[in-house]
Amino acid sequence: MVGTAVYKRVLLKASGEALMGDQGFGIDVTVADRIASDIAEARALGVEVGVVIGGGNIFRGVAVASKGGDRVTGDHMGMLATVINSLALRTSLVKIGIDTVVLSAIAMPELCETFSQRQATAYMDMGKVVIFAGGTGNPFFTTDSAAALRAAEVGADALFKGTQVDGVYTADPKKDPNAVRFDRLTHKEMLDRGLTVMDTTAVALARENNIPIIVYSIHEKGGFAEVLQGRGRATIVSD
Ligand code: UDP
Repeated sequence: MVGTAVYKRVLLKASGEALMGDQGFGIDVTVADRIASDIAEARALGVEVGVVIGGGNIFRGVAVASKGGDRVTGDHMGMLATVINSLALRTSLVKIGIDTVVLSAIAMPELCETFSQRQATAYMDMGKVVIFAGGTGNPFFTTDSAAALRAAEVGADALFKGTQVDGVYTADPKKDPNAVRFDRLTHKEMLDRGLTVMDTTAVALARENNIPIIVYSIHEKGGFAEVLQGRGRATIVSD
């Protein structure tokens, strides 16, 4: 692919919902394949890519807690959901010849390797796509926070948040026709305005580590490569 990326190493956060397509639950393999092809385009640009996938298309811990169940167990179930999604994305990447490893925050050696910062960094140095499964490995966190944490640990130049829309808006543009899109924001503005496109723990961690957050639409085929080259529609959050 012709083109020059603005970033050398990035961490892509995709929500579990991004994988379910129009199904309303679970994994639509054609969507996983499409996201994999976007990641392959990034690799063709020479960008080192780490990925964190959410689990919301399968399970969220609050679903247990909201019905009087144990939140910690619910969160364990949510973290397991992220492992299922990570294995699905690895399958899609391997199918198209992209060297990919899944590193899980929770040890399950029969399925994938266990996360360590040293191993993750070594694999990224080698040009492998690294999918970080199992969130942070701790309840009461989200995969947004896991993405900011892993981005800091592997020294990513930017944290890409692939969302349903093409940036950060003053309100949900799918619900509010008057919502206005930002081209740029600072981390502080994002926190002060209570913009919830990424949770506050994740934004604070990215801010402390000077990691820009780039919010773009994960549903635009080829959009990831465009934004990596400083083109396309996105909101850039940096101080
Ligand atoms: N989760 C957790 N700790 C983490 C990351 C995730 O307990 O570090 C659990 C939590 O229950 C969460 C679920 O996994 O609801 C799925 O993650 P998330 O809601 O972030 O997924 P997304 O909304 O991105 O699909």
